[in-house]
Amino acid sequence: MIDRQFGRVVICCDSCDETFEGERGEEFDSVWPAAKRAGWRTRKIADEWLHGCPFHGVPK
Ligand SMILES: [Zn+2]
Repeated sequence: MIDRQFGRVVICCDSCDETFEGERGEEFDSVWPAAKRAGWRTRKIADEWLHGCPFHGVPK
């Protein structure tokens, strides 16, 4: 899931507490490619995007 804390985009793993934080003021569109390079994956289930950290991979 995607969260926003203090002006930062925070990508949270839906399987554990792992997070990936963007820089302050950085938009999701530029945070996500960086997260993907770090091994994060996403999957759309129904209307919801699930996110998986590098340890969990694509959310089930
Ligand atoms: Zn995880």
